[in-house]
Amino acid sequence: MEAVLWQCWRKLLPSQPGVLTQATRRLSSSADPALKVSTTRSTGASPLLVSRLFQPSSLREGQGQESQSGEKTCKSQRLMLQAGLIHPSNPGCYYYLPATVRAIEKLVRLIDQEMQGIGGQKLDMPSLCAAELWRRSKRWDLMGRDLFRLKDRHDAEYCLGPTHEEAITELLASQGHLSHKQLPLLLYQVTRKFRDEPRPRFGLLRGREFYMKDMYTFDTSERAAHLTYQNVCQAYTRLFARLGLQCVQVQADTGNIGGKLSHEFQLPAEVGEDRLLVCGNCAFSANVETMEPGQTDCPQCHKGTLTESKGIEVGHTFYLGTKYSHIFNATFSNPQSKPVVAEMGCFGLGVTRILAAAIEVLSTENAIHWPGLLAPYQVCILPPKRGSKEEHLEGLAEELCHSLGSTIPGLRGEVVLDDRTQLTIGRRLKDAGCLGYPYVIVVGRSAAEDLPRFEVRCQQSGETMFLSREGLMDLLSRVETI
Ligand SMILES: [Zn+2]
Repeated sequence: MEAVLWQCWRKLLPSQPGVLTQATRRLSSSADPALKVSTTRSTGASPLLVSRLFQPSSLREGQGQESQSGEKTCKSQRLMLQAGLIHPSNPGCYYYLPATVRAIEKLVRLIDQEMQGIGGQKLDMPSLCAAELWRRSKRWDLMGRDLFRLKDRHDAEYCLGPTHEEAITELLASQGHLSHKQLPLLLYQVTRKFRDEPRPRFGLLRGREFYMKDMYTFDTSERAAHLTYQNVCQAYTRLFARLGLQCVQVQADTGNIGGKLSHEFQLPAEVGEDRLLVCGNCAFSANVETMEPGQTDCPQCHKGTLTESKGIEVGHTFYLGTKYSHIFNATFSNPQSKPVVAEMGCFGLGVTRILAAAIEVLSTENAIHWPGLLAPYQVCILPPKRGSKEEHLEGLAEELCHSLGSTIPGLRGEVVLDDRTQLTIGRRLKDAGCLGYPYVIVVGRSAAEDLPRFEVRCQQSGETMFLSREGLMDLLSRVETI
């Protein structure tokens, strides 16, 4: 098997050995200042240079409401394309470029903290799911054309998993009888999911291939399962609060997942495709789909009036009961050593969708605003323009970049140096504003004075401050990173 793979790889390699040597020679003879800097990399704190980042800015400037494919667009999609954070591939599929991957990795670390904080254990299941499993739950037919289906060389049928209730329940059932002492079990993964959307749109908000966190829980009783359900909902609420996102938890329809109880976590936004009814008097809110048509009075307090708003669904929770555990015979042994079917729940978070939805609601028309924790880089330092009166401060800017990354533990790998000194400070400030670095530091005229001051622009507050080195260190040591 492996030999075959290697053969395929070898076919792709350049046939003339000269190609590589030429490239190496060109690199080593280059007088590029970036190479000079990169020799300090062994210290682990060499500056990240903007000129070297693979982040093709101005990729699609001047793009209108409709993208090339005729797909509907929105603010987050436009901003992410312009900043070179994503690049379109097939309809509903994107290249996630390096800065986006950094943001996704941060979001996953945050999700790990919250899920493991309530006892979640992370695993990873195959994306290729056997049709046989999906036939047993009857979803092979129910899912219709939303499912990406394929056949292997033996004509065995598979789908690319959009969700994994069947797989996880079968995994649990295959372990033989678990003891009631081992429950609750909270198992989750963060993986790529696939869904053959009829009309992919809005960039990462509605794609065909995306990242999701899906958690599946197993409990000994309905009461225990409800407690687990509440714990996961509380963890979701904490997670959105840490991101600074005002999500609402609304009563929802259970759809084709099935089960008895379900909520959505909705981020109110004009571009949202879900319609919500929110009570003006109490905390009640629901997806329109779950209500009687035309209903305007609140079923909970009977006093308030329901008003409609739009939302982006960023999370979904389901109490499943024994729907899947019954089919796959996922049981545990109770204290009397009798087998009992486990009570299940499943809990999704759209990872790439949360990222885009956050950009959608936090950003202005021209500048990306990230949730602070997710910004790909926290600090951007601008050295003076080449040929300007302050040119001699370039070394100070480099040194500051080093020193921030090495003395403030949270900022390791979080500081970039915009070394494109052929450009004016103004032009680089504009770029930095578009990309949404939470802190931009200008090493300019005020840094050349007897009492050097650094110009610090804080995106969140919109403030510009002139700080001494100590003041700057103090400010940045309080930046929360993950
Ligand atoms: Zn009410």
